[in-house]
Order: sequence, then C-alpha cells, then structure tokens
Amino acid sequence: MHAAVYKKRADVNAVIHTHPVFSSVFGAVKMALPAISEDFAQIVGDKVDFAEPYELPGTEELAISAAKALGKHNAVILPNHGSLSVGDTIKMALKVSVVLEKNAQIYLFARLLGTPQLFQQKDIDAMQAFAKNMYGKKNKDYI
Ligand SMILES: [Zn+2]
Repeated sequence: MHAAVYKKRADVNAVIHTHPVFSSVFGAVKMALPAISEDFAQIVGDKVDFAEPYELPGTEELAISAAKALGKHNAVILPNHGSLSVGDTIKMALKVSVVLEKNAQIYLFARLLGTPQLFQQKDIDAMQAFAKNMYGKKNKDYI
C-alpha cells in the first residue's frame, strides 16, 4: 500500500498507516469525513474520502484501492480497517494523521450534540493558501 502511493505521488515522501478509532468510525459507515477543525482544513482540505470497495488487508487490491481513493488528497479512510496519511516529510505525514483523527473525533461528537457547522469553501481555500505560504516560506514547523 505504501509503495502504491509512492508510485502514484511524486510529491509524497512519507506514508503513515494507522488503525485509529474515530477515523475508523467513518470507514465503518462509509462516510466521507468533512473538515470541522481549522488545522484539518489547512493541511488536509475540505474532506477525506474512503476507499471503495472494501479490500482485505495486505492485498494488492487494497494497495490499488487506497492509492486511487487518496488521489491528490493527503489522507484516505480505509473501510473497516483504518486510515492512511501522507506528506512531503514524515513529520507532515504524522501531523496529517493526528489532525485527521482529531477532526474525526470532533465531527462525531458534534453530530451527537447537534448539526456540525462546516466551513465555506472560500474559507478552506484561504486557510490552505495561508498554510502553504507559511509552510513553504517561513517556519516549516508552525503547523
Ligand atoms: Zn492496517
């Protein structure tokens, strides 16, 4: 699965695969995870999709499905399995992995209390532009 991502994405130098509880809830019901926290919007985007269909762990089929569903995003949820996060550095891939799980927890708890209030696309675009500018030019560790 890691190799399949590296073959598809020249910008990716690190892949992290985990089995996180809250992100996995979204995979269990095959629901894309929308951005609900600012750090997620900055470094992941408007949402994280799930790979389709379910594939057995450790198989070539899962590798192909995960890399395809990842597309140009920085993370993907693997139904009934876990998640996969990527970055140009191992530090960024880890940050994406942590932020993905935090966002999943917040979104799930928000659904329990009421209706999660999602960002407008223009706000996500602005946060991503800010993050790219800060990440590329000033302090790579600011996030
Ligand atoms: Zn696994």
